[in-house]
This record gives sequence, structure tokens and C-alpha cells, in this order.
Amino acid sequence: MAGGRLGPSSGNDGRRPGFTYRGVLAEDEALEETVDEPTETDAHDLIVIGATGGALSVAVDAQRAGLANVRVLASGAVAFPSLVTERQLDVGYGEDVQSIDVDGDLLVVTTSKATYRTRACLAANRMPRPDAVAPIPVAMTTPDGAGRVHVNELPGDLHGQDVLVVGSSDHAVELTSTLTDAGNRVVLAGGDIRPALLSPAGDTILRRIERERQATILYRSMPDQVGEVKGFPMAFFGDRRTPDLQFDHVVFASSRRAPSPESIGVTDAARAHGGMWFFGADDEAEGVQLAPGWDIWNQLAAEVFPEAAPLQSVPPATRRRRHVGAIDELRAEHYNATITRFEPSHSDLWVLRVKPDNGDVSHDPGQYASLGLGYWEDRIDDAEDIGLEDKWDKLVRRSYSISSPMFDEAGYLADSLDATELEFYIVLVQPTPDNVPGLTPRLALKRPGDRIYLGPKVAGRYTTAPVTSPDDALVFLSTGTGEAPHNAMVVEMLRKGHVGPIVSAVTVRQWVDLGYRDKHELLAQRYPNYHYVPLPTREADVPKRYIQDLISGGDLEQFGVELNPTGTHVFLCGNPAMIGIPEEVDGELTFPETTGVVELLVDRGFVVDSRTQPGNIHFEEYW
Ligand SMILES: Cc1cc2nc3c(=O)[nH]c(=O)nc-3n(C[C@H](O)[C@H](O)[C@H](O)COP(=O)(O)OP(=O)(O)OC[C@H]3O[C@@H](n4cnc5c(N)ncnc54)[C@H](O)[C@@H]3O)c2cc1C
Repeated sequence: MAGGRLGPSSGNDGRRPGFTYRGVLAEDEALEETVDEPTETDAHDLIVIGATGGALSVAVDAQRAGLANVRVLASGAVAFPSLVTERQLDVGYGEDVQSIDVDGDLLVVTTSKATYRTRACLAANRMPRPDAVAPIPVAMTTPDGAGRVHVNELPGDLHGQDVLVVGSSDHAVELTSTLTDAGNRVVLAGGDIRPALLSPAGDTILRRIERERQATILYRSMPDQVGEVKGFPMAFFGDRRTPDLQFDHVVFASSRRAPSPESIGVTDAARAHGGMWFFGADDEAEGVQLAPGWDIWNQLAAEVFPEAAPLQSVPPATRRRRHVGAIDELRAEHYNATITRFEPSHSDLWVLRVKPDNGDVSHDPGQYASLGLGYWEDRIDDAEDIGLEDKWDKLVRRSYSISSPMFDEAGYLADSLDATELEFYIVLVQPTPDNVPGLTPRLALKRPGDRIYLGPKVAGRYTTAPVTSPDDALVFLSTGTGEAPHNAMVVEMLRKGHVGPIVSAVTVRQWVDLGYRDKHELLAQRYPNYHYVPLPTREADVPKRYIQDLISGGDLEQFGVELNPTGTHVFLCGNPAMIGIPEEVDGELTFPETTGVVELLVDRGFVVDSRTQPGNIHFEEYW
């Protein structure tokens, strides 16, 4: 939906065909009254023409912003009558607009029943497109059957019927609401209905229908054809989610178009008046400023009602998040695993386990898998994802090294071959001016039992495969959660009976940032060749030492590691600055400005392991 101001320079020359608005739904006879002569009323702030979801939304917003005299002119039926009552909107029923002109500073709106002087007028009525057809093949073979399929219009007397509404716009919500109010059993097949593109009123009503279970809403399903079975329409969905369903009636809600200025008698003077606005101007309307429908009030207020209290609009993405049914469907569609364990080491650092629904979890220690959550999931922080609207129903996926519980339930070394679930060690990434993290702020809100996406394949050549001698010294150096793959590799080497020294060092800020500390200490007690070197850099009573200091300070020798390239493998994981991978420029290796471990090791004759050249420096960068 789009809104736009039609001013003198809009270039709209009335090319759009005129029409007579009869309303999509049957007019409420009881509310109709006949007035012979139009009566003049006091000046209004805003006249809203039409009673669609979009029109009602603007009227509600205008009242919330403090406008005292707002009137909605409904020539046809009102889209959401309950909203009119709740919000005490002033609605002129059965008022056909005949002309809009200017008198002094004010617009003059003349209807079949009255004349209004107003500061602003918003033409927000929407017209069914005369050429609208069902967007999918419809094969009804009998006249009676054909009479059960409708485009935009409802037979007036539907009650107690099974009705399928097909569509994803405000119009579909309006039809669904009208049908449920009339006591029908309704299924709304919304395809990928995007609540963000509904008007705020349409969005509110859709959520209410969902919450009160007034209708079944299929957020992700749309029939691909309708056929006749025993005289009644049968909707064939052609997807695995939705069975084929039979109905008494099927109604297609197609998109509608904005009214042309001519159809409501807008004079040139009125068009030149800054207060004459058109809502949902269609894409043929050259020169009309298009803007998202949900924010139309704020745009109108900025230009016409500067004194009005600014309104906090609910952004589309937030509105979409409220649709529980849509989220349930997306989760069911995308997630294939369950979080079986979620242990916070502290609020921002977690050890979690994930069990896939199907398939095994075999992997080589050191490899990584991918985890994903939908952009539709809530975040723990209040950062806004860039471009969320376009990717709201997509997954954000990231790679995670597979860690290890280190011990099994009996207290023996864990065996990755016995695993039925994967363990991960993950830290929450905070938003910065340059980056809005996608996954970890969503993961932060998850708990055991919650569903998640686990990539079907594990990958990576960061493993212990290059270690061929049981006497080699193995040095695992990491920052933060970079110890995850090392935990799995250390356990594997100890299980294999590795006899050479094994050192695992990790830098963190504080002791609490060591999620596996007790396990490492237990391991070091049990295996004399295993040495754990935690390096908290922000603890008052611990001298600040970085991983690089272990190499340059000769600290590893106390563990029997001489850092001799022929008998040592060094594994580096985590922060790329600690690793310090050189770039090759014209055959020369250029190291980063800040000295990383690779530079220190290359100086000692170590070689970076690669696909083309075996070496004894192995690394995994996390970013
Ligand atoms: C092969 C591989 C394995 C990985 N394994 C792990 C793992 O076991 N545990 C883990 O927590 N992360 C791991 N990561 C990082 C992980 O993939 C995500 O980048 C991270 O969780 C942030 O995701 P995000 O969507 O929240 O933030 P993003 O938008 O992806 O933010 C990326 C930024 O977050 C920061 N960042 C990323 N990872 C970390 C981290 N671990 N610690 C501190 N800052 C970080 C960096 O500044 C980076 O530029 C791994 C990455 C790779 C490539």
C-alpha cells in the first residue's frame, strides 16, 4: 500500500478511468438515510474519504495525535465496524463525495448529505479493479459451481458457510473480517501475507482474528488451482503443508486501486491546495510521492498539521513479529533441530547442545556446523536489523565450531562417535555502529526445548588429521570461544593415547569467561601430559598476558614444548588479530601491523598448513 500527496505539480492529468464506487461489500441499509439538501457544517480538521482499513487507520492516528474534528465518509460498508465503535470514530454513513473545492484556506467537501469545510482531506477509498480475475486457474464446470467462486465481491447473504478467502492484502483481511462477523467459517489463504504491508487497522484486526481463533489463517499457503468436486469448489494447495480443502464459497481478494481525482470531483484549485491528499495512489500516478501506507499519518501531519503531537508509529517489522501464527508456520517450515541444553556460563556466554530431528551428527573433532534462526525471532537487544523488512522470513545462519562435553555421563572421556547431539560454545556479540549482529542476539533468548536450524553438513579441515606422530607436541591457542574446536580435538587426542605434551591456552577478559575451566582442570589432573593455560587479561590479581606472550616469553617450555617445527603442531582459533595471517603480495608474505602468532612461529621456521602445502601451523578464523 502506498500513499501520496497530489499537489499542483503532481502531473496527474486524470488519465485513470473514472468509476462509480459501490463498495466491495453490501451497503448497510439500516444506516442509510436520505437527505435532500446538503447541510453546511463547522470546519473540520480532516475529512477521510472511504472506510477501508487504511482510511480507518489514518482517522485513528489523527485522533490519537489530538485532532478534534476528524470525520470518515463511508459511501459503502465500513471495513472494520468494531474499530469504529472502539475508537469512537465519527463516520458519515452512505455519504457519496460529489465535489472537493477550495474556499479561502479551507477545502470544501460536498457529499450527497452535507458540505464540510476542512483543513485537509484524504481520499483513502479503494476501488476494485474492474478487470480483476482470479489469479490462479479456476475450473468450475457447472453454473451453480461457478456461482460459488467470487472475485472481490461477496454474495450478500452468506451465513454459516465454509468460505475460503484468497489474498494477502488489507482487502483480504476486510473480507475475512466481514465473513467471520456474519457467522461463517473462514479460512484465509494469505500466501506470504506480509502484515507489515497491511494498514495498522488491518494488522490489528488480523491479529485479533488470529488470537480469538475466529478464522484459520494460512500465512504461508496459497492454493494453486480451484476445481469443482460434486458441485462445490475444491482448493488444491499443491504444497506439503496444506491438504486440499473443499468450501461452500471461494472469494479472491485482488488488489484495489486508488480513486481518480475526477471520480470525486476534485477541482484544480483543490488539487493545488496542500491539504488534498490521496492515499494509496496507484503506480500509474506520475509525480505522486509514494510512501509506506503505515506511516501516512506522520507524513500528512508533517505537512498539514505541524502542531499535532508526533506519533510513535509501530514499524512494520515490529508489527509482523506479533503474528504468532505466521511465526509458528515459519519455525515449522525451517527448523530441523531442538536445543536440548542451554547452559549460560554467564548471561552472554553459553554452552548449548543441539539435536537434529534426523540424520547423524558424525564429525571429525575440530570441524564446524551451521546454526540458524529466523529473522522473525525476537532479539535480546533493541538494535534494528538493516533491511529487516525484506528478510524477515529468512534465516540468519552462522558457522560454529563443534565443541565437546569432554566427559561422558560416567565421567570418562567423551567419544564424538557416540554423540547424538552437537555441543557448541557461543558468545553474545553486541551491536556496534558498524554492525548489527544477526544471530547471537536471537540465540540469547532461546532455552532448552526451543527449535533451531542446524545445517545438514559439518565441514572444515581444521582437524587433527595432520598429526601423525603420538610424540608430537600439540599446542592449542585460542581467544574466547575459539577454544570450542580445541576441546573436541584435545579429548580426541587423549582418547587416542597421545603421549606428547598437549597444551591448551585461551585468553579471555575475566575468569567468568571460561566456560570449560573446571573440565580442563579435571583433565589436567587426570592426564599428566595435558596442560591448561587460562589467560584472563582483566583480573586485578593476574598479570596481563596475551597468547603472543606465551610464544615470545618461552612460557611453553615448562610444559615440555620446545616449539621446534619438526615436532610441534600449533592450532590457532578465534580472533584473526591473535592469529595474524599474512597476505601474499608479489610472492612476498606481508604480516599484519599488530604481530600475531603466525609471524612469531614463521620466524621460528614453522609453516602455515594449506591445501597446497602441508605445514605445522593450523588456524580457524572466526571473522
Ligand atoms: C568456522 C567458524 C566457526 C565459528 N565458531 C564459533 C564458535 O564456536 N563460537 C562463537 O561464538 N562464534 C563462532 N564463530 C563466529 C560465528 O560464526 C558468528 O560470527 C558469531 O556468533 C556472531 O554472529 P552474529 O550473527 O551474532 O554477529 P555477526 O553479525 O556475524 O557479527 C560478526 C562480528 O562479531 C564479532 N564476533 C564474531 N564471532 C565472535 C566471537 N566468537 N567472539 C567475539 N566476537 C565475535 C566480530 O567482530 C565479527 O566481525 C565461528 C565462525 C566461523 C567462520
